Order: sequence, then C-alpha cells, then structure tokens
Amino acid sequence: MTFSIHGLAVSRGIAIGRAVLVASSRADVAHYFVDASQVEAEIQRVRASRNAVTDEITRLQRELPSDAPNELAALLDVHLMLLQDEQLISGVKGWISERHYNAEWALTTQYEMIARQFDEMEDEYLRERKADLEQVVERILRHMKGVASPVQPQSQSSRKLQQDLLLDDTMDVPLILVAHDMSPADMLQFKQSLFVGFATDVGGRTSHTAIVARSMHIPAVVGARSASQLIKQDDWVIIDGDAGVLIVDPSPIILAEYGFKQRQGELERERLNRLLHTPALTLDGQKIELLANIEMPEDTTGAVKAGAVGVGLFRSEFLFMGRIGNLPDEQEQYLAYRQAIEGMQGLPVTIRTVDIGADKPLDRHTKAQETHLNPALGLRAIRWSLADPPMFLTQLRAILRAAAHGQVNLLVPMLAHAAEIRQTMSLIDHARATLDNKGVPYGPVKLGAMIEIPAAALTLKLFLKYFDFLSIGTNDLIQYTLAIDRADEAVAHLYDPCHPAVLRLVADTIAECNAQGKGVSVCGEMAGDASMTRLLLGLGLRSFSMHPSQILAVKQEILRADASKLKVWSQRVIDSEDPASLL
Ligand code: PEP
Ligand code: MG
Repeated sequence: MTFSIHGLAVSRGIAIGRAVLVASSRADVAHYFVDASQVEAEIQRVRASRNAVTDEITRLQRELPSDAPNELAALLDVHLMLLQDEQLISGVKGWISERHYNAEWALTTQYEMIARQFDEMEDEYLRERKADLEQVVERILRHMKGVASPVQPQSQSSRKLQQDLLLDDTMDVPLILVAHDMSPADMLQFKQSLFVGFATDVGGRTSHTAIVARSMHIPAVVGARSASQLIKQDDWVIIDGDAGVLIVDPSPIILAEYGFKQRQGELERERLNRLLHTPALTLDGQKIELLANIEMPEDTTGAVKAGAVGVGLFRSEFLFMGRIGNLPDEQEQYLAYRQAIEGMQGLPVTIRTVDIGADKPLDRHTKAQETHLNPALGLRAIRWSLADPPMFLTQLRAILRAAAHGQVNLLVPMLAHAAEIRQTMSLIDHARATLDNKGVPYGPVKLGAMIEIPAAALTLKLFLKYFDFLSIGTNDLIQYTLAIDRADEAVAHLYDPCHPAVLRLVADTIAECNAQGKGVSVCGEMAGDASMTRLLLGLGLRSFSMHPSQILAVKQEILRADASKLKVWSQRVIDSEDPASLL
C-alpha cells in the first residue's frame, strides 16, 4: 500500500527506483554489478569465504579450553548454525544470480532482510540473535576482503550495464539507497556509484552528507526519521528531493505523475543549460564571480563544465577521511592539490585547510559524536589543526608547493581568536621557511579566513588586518548564531538562513570587506540557493561559491537582477522581523 514519509529536501529532483537498504556500518562495502559470465565466480567467492569462516569457528570450538564457560561453546554453535542457514545462503545466491550484485553487496543485502525479520520477533532471545548474525556476516566480509574479487567493479559503466540488464528484463533498476545514517566519507564512496537517489533517517539540510548528495546531483531526502525501518528491501520508492518526501510503493497513477515531474525537471535543466556560456552580468552591468565548491580534485571537471570561474572552496578534509588514521602525507596532498589546480586550467583555486570534526569524522570508528558531548563546539577545523602542528605543517607545505603550479588561495576555517590567527600565520611562515631551507619550490598564496563563527563576524577588523580575503561560511554561521546543530533533524525547522541575526552578520561582513577593498565571498549553501541571490547581490556580494550543479540557477537570477536597485530593498529585508516573507 502506498504511504509517504516526510523528511528534509536536501538535493533537488525526482528519483524513482527500488530500495536498497544499507546499514551505515557497511556502507563502505563495494556495490557494483557483475555481468552474467561472472555470476558463478562471484557465488564461489562467497561460498569459499563462508567455508573458511566455518573452519575458523570449528577450530575455535575444538580448541576451547575445558574450563571455558558453556555460553561460549553455545555461542559458537549458534554462529555455525547461522553460517549454514539456508535463508542466508539461498538469498545471497539469488541477489548475485538474479540481480547481478557483487558478492559483498549480495551478502549485506541478505543480512538486512534477515535482520529485519529478527527485529520483528516476539521472543527476546531470538531477537538478540541478530547480533550474532551480524558478527557472522562481518567475519565473512572480512574474509572476502582478503580474497580478491576476480571481477572488476563496474561503477563507471554501471549505468550502461543497468540499461542492458533492464532491456533483458531480468532486473529492477534503478536503485535508491536507504540508510539510517551516512557519513560524508560513506557518501563519497557512492560518488561514482549506481544509486539514483538517497534517503536517510537522520541529518539536516546543511549536514555534510546532504552537501555531498547535492554535489552528486542526486535527489535526496534526509531526516526522514524511521525511513530505514518502514521501507523494505526492494520496495519501489519515489524520492521527491524538492518537497522532501519519500513515497513508498506508489500506485500507477502516482508513478505516472512523478514520471511527468521528472521529465519537467529535465526540461528545466536543459533550459538552464542554454545559459552556460552567458557571462554572469547583472542588468546594470555588474560582473559576478561564480565559483565552485569541490570535495575532491576530480570534481574540477564538473566545475569547469558548469562554467565556474574558479574554485571558491576545496574542502580538503575529504582527502583525510575514511583512512583509519592513516593521513595523507605531504607528497600525496601536494599531488591532489596540484591535480585540482591543473584541472581548473589556470583559474584560481581556494584550498581550505582541513576541517575535520563534528559531522565530518576522520572515519566512522572515531566518530566525534561518540566521544564528545558537543562535537560541533569541540576540536574541529583549525582547532584540530593547531592541536597537531606537524600534521598542519605537512598540509601547509603541500598547499604552498602546489601553489607553484597556479593561482592558489589558502583559506582557514573556524577561526575566532586573535591567538589562533597569529598561531596560524606563524605556522605558515614556518612551512615556508622549511621549504626555503630544503630548496623546494613553492608559490605565492593569498590568505583568507572563513567567517563562520559569530565571534569572527563581530571582530572583522581583526580579521581584515591579517587576511587578504574573507569567505562567509553560512552553514556554520547559522548553526553557531542560532545554536542549532546543522546535522540534527529534530531542530531542522529552527535552522533559518533568513533569521535577521544571521543576515545582519552576513551583511556587515560584506559591507566591511567592500569598504576596505578586500575580497569577500559566500561559500556556504546560501550562495547556491537561488532564492537568496537577489538579497546577497543587494547587500553588495559579487562572489558566490557553490556546488557546480547550482551555478546555472543562480546565474539565471543574476541575469534578471539590477544590483543597484536591490540595495534599498535588501536593507529593508534584513531589518524586517520576518525577512523570508519578503524574498
Ligand atoms: C560553511 O560552514 O558554510 C562552510 C562552507 O563550511 P562547511 O560546510 O564545510 O562546514
Ligand atoms: Mg563550515
């Protein structure tokens, strides 16, 4: 029966497909299709790993000391029984042979199916066996990791493969990923993947997971509370990324309606595409700089394609995530920054120093949320960097070296204190001195600070004394001004970009920079929100940095705007009790 689930609209568009439930702890399991000739080998891979785990547990059981508690022996029995479970075995085979999922994907999918049945059991003892099943599956997965897949992941060509498979009608694709939670690093795993839409139970509009979904141009709804419990594996789901709604098991009439909306969206995108080569000029001739936000060096391809005139924010932390503490060294970072610089073909690139912490953990297992009460107020961004000078110096040297290959701006996140600014400056000097001493070439960089803490927005003179330019991070500025966790769906309704206090801080920052002739841009999500473009233009902003997918819609607003006429109106908006009602 059709039902809908409401969440937060975080990435626009309509996606229609079958649900794939993925536990976040298994999000880094490879997901790809194998072709028909590889099905048998893939089944064999699961079988071999299952046999190896069975041998492992049998050996453990044999070697149990005679005084070991009875519970332990019983537990191993349960594990052996689960390994032989017919439902697990035949289900996994089915996902591989009928759907052509790779072995790991098939195993985790079948786990999700059985785990759900355990959840629904009346008997508490049986319900608790889910944890055993999870351990068994983890063991098999671990074993499979050691057994190289004879099959190459087909993520690049997966769409074509899906189409081929659709043609022979053996599979129901496209696929929609449904999960309780996704870390930004997990999302990155899916960047090249075959999912056409995402839905998660938790998350806010500007949580980093949502930002990555937007950067992938994939419709997404987050904060959908119990979506991962209500939606079953393989259910048909519509993601309405404009309204923030998931429609499960839609009737044919609803399907037709959303199919129509999907085509409308495509037409709108085609219409916007005609603006690709139009210069971003307002009606009164003001030239507006439209820059791209990127997460990885390869994203520069999309940035150039979308007509960005540079990168306004390279979130370098994505190079650091999901590496189990094994951080990228100077050479690896240098090559990545250089790749981004070369990718932009002479256009400027603003590299932000690492912003790890809060909802961007280094990796899932060190999730800050698990160890700190208020991670957003804790050791993140520049605080994290200053707490580990050797790590920070490594990054600074890599950025300075990369700057020899093009125009680079170095941007520092989350500064609030004069002492932090001075410490940062002295470390930059130190990094230059080290390179000088070693005779390693490096290039000049302009230095910029993010204005994303109210304390920074209220002490602009201090910032302008030290920095060449400022970049307003509205995502955090809203979070810290309004005391609303940007990743918490429970307070998402209070996360208000149009709150007069937020707009006042944004307006003052732009005005002060303009008055002093210093560069200023907005690189938070506000810059890519076309409904805010006129207001920001009226406040004097001439540089916007956003995900490439948002550039054309913002450009359309710019082409229709008369910046000089918007000045008075903008002041009225920010002075109003309810600015949103005037936009
Ligand atoms: C911001 O806070 O607005 C910003 C651009 O930085 P991030 O979203 O990466 O925290
Ligand atoms: Mg920020």
